[in-house]
Amino acid sequence: MRIGYGICFGEKKNKEDKYEDKYEDRYCTICGTKMTASDYYGFTSWSGAMANSKHQCVEYKCPNLKKEWHEKAVSISLEVEATSSPSLKKILIGDRYDIVTNGLRK
Ligand SMILES: [Zn+2]
Repeated sequence: MRIGYGICFGEKKNKEDKYEDKYEDRYCTICGTKMTASDYYGFTSWSGAMANSKHQCVEYKCPNLKKEWHEKAVSISLEVEATSSPSLKKILIGDRYDIVTNGLRK
């Protein structure tokens, strides 16, 4: 699981607020689906885990996170970032678009 690709963390608007609107709306950077939000207490990064620094915050997760097509789209996104070839980048982005479009149709 990679932070920033279908999962991310955010600050609580108001720790005492019991209502749903304490969460802001966030959309998945991979598939554009509205993410679910829940209270979270724990590590938000590897460096945080190393430093044993836990945070009270909000965890945003894409509801499609565990789906095979979504995992494939995440791994393509990592390849897009890794390559320095503009033509390869175009091909990868096209593939990711097709995978996400087909996945959301199911
Ligand atoms: Zn998603």
